Amino acid sequence: MPDDAGLQALREAARFSPDNLPLRQHLAGQLLAKGYLADAEAEFRAALALSPQDPGLIAGLAEAFVRQSAFGQAMAALEPLLATAGYPPAVGVLAARALLGEGNAGKAAYRYFEATSRDASVADQELEARLGAWMGGTPRGDAAPQETRKVPAGDVPPPPESAFLPSVPGPGDTSTAEVERSGVSFADVAGMEAVKEALRIKLLLPLQQPEMFAAFGKRAGGGVLLYGPPGAGKTHLARAAAGELGAAFVNVGLADILDMYTGSSERNLRATFDLARRNRPCVLFFDEVDALAGRRSDMRQAHARQLVNQFLSELDGVDQNANEGVLVLAATNAPWYVDVAFRRPGRFDQPVFVPPPDLTARAAILRILCRDKPLAEMDYDAVARVTEHFVGADLKGVVDRAVEAKLRQSLSAGRPIPLTTRDLLAAAGTVRPTAVREWMGTARNYVMHANDSGAWDELMPWVKAKW
Ligand code: ADP
Repeated sequence: MPDDAGLQALREAARFSPDNLPLRQHLAGQLLAKGYLADAEAEFRAALALSPQDPGLIAGLAEAFVRQSAFGQAMAALEPLLATAGYPPAVGVLAARALLGEGNAGKAAYRYFEATSRDASVADQELEARLGAWMGGTPRGDAAPQETRKVPAGDVPPPPESAFLPSVPGPGDTSTAEVERSGVSFADVAGMEAVKEALRIKLLLPLQQPEMFAAFGKRAGGGVLLYGPPGAGKTHLARAAAGELGAAFVNVGLADILDMYTGSSERNLRATFDLARRNRPCVLFFDEVDALAGRRSDMRQAHARQLVNQFLSELDGVDQNANEGVLVLAATNAPWYVDVAFRRPGRFDQPVFVPPPDLTARAAILRILCRDKPLAEMDYDAVARVTEHFVGADLKGVVDRAVEAKLRQSLSAGRPIPLTTRDLLAAAGTVRPTAVREWMGTARNYVMHANDSGAWDELMPWVKAKW
């Protein structure tokens, strides 16, 4: 509870007139402005119960979510509003921040352009800087294709130059997910030794040495929840786990499944699990699992609950062997929103923190990101030193920028000019990462005030550090 006298008075007034919408809206806005994000979220929800369609309240709730890094939830709140013609341009900018937080820079740039072309006064310099290359109007496309080849679920895969199993099509498959052949392994993930070790034990060893695990009565399979600041490498790590294991990789944005129409979203979820089962060994990766929790409380319809229950029963498997060889990984930037039912034994009972990289890890990430480029002698440590608080995604942005500049120079010189340390330093100077500090601020609130079960103990030393 904030100890701000003005806020206390407002809160007191709202308690006496709980149906006074303007008052509640004012209180929610003040809480948001002063950074009491969880309180603001609760107040906006209460006000929305009085006036469910109010665009100002929806935007306020979404902003509270964005600032808590709950990007999936922010989009869940905004989507009905975004579907209406002439929604407020400021809402488009908010959606762009949420989409960028989800790693969807292309969609974010589209929303941002759309909003600012309707009203230039909603422009946001910092967001523009983070949208980087997408602001030039010629987006570079997804980062993923360089690392993986996507194989549509029903297609015959390319001839096996590797030991991968072919993707097996199934009758009546309605999954919108695709089977990927991961081209990366743990060697491509810099740092995170403890995290890799945890995944090795949980995911890889049981499949690589089943006899040993059987001897101790341990079953393979189960789920792991990866959590941490956006861009710290959760998706990259999941993809690398698939590569390490020689398993297929199915990557599902849970928000995408939930966006489908009633009924078909359930079919899609079932089909996605079936797709993974037909392609075992398979790593089935669900991003944004917090979106599922968000829907459960926001949409009171039986349908939302039904969907959560279905997800959990697919995860549990109809019989002991249903998910044999299917390793379910889930990721979230907002673990505090993930339903406790997910964390029951046998489900995602071992949350694994994916931390922001330290100095050594940043240098190692830079080395990996630059390895296939024409290079002069590089001092990655120097770049790592000036990129404190940068996560993997930020460092990728730095390298992309430096490479683009170098490419332009090389094209005009007519010969490849190698990338230098100085290029990386210059590019680093143009990026201002804010995601980790904001995330740690939110995490601190939860760890300090809502850690009764000890679920966030692992975060304690991190949030106590200075960010
Ligand atoms: P998250 O899923 O946590 O939001 P991503 O996995 O999408 O983050 O990370 C964004 C990009 O940053 C990845 O595609 C990868 O290129 C790079 N990256 C992040 N962490 C690492 C790492 N530890 N080693 C190498 N590259 C990394």
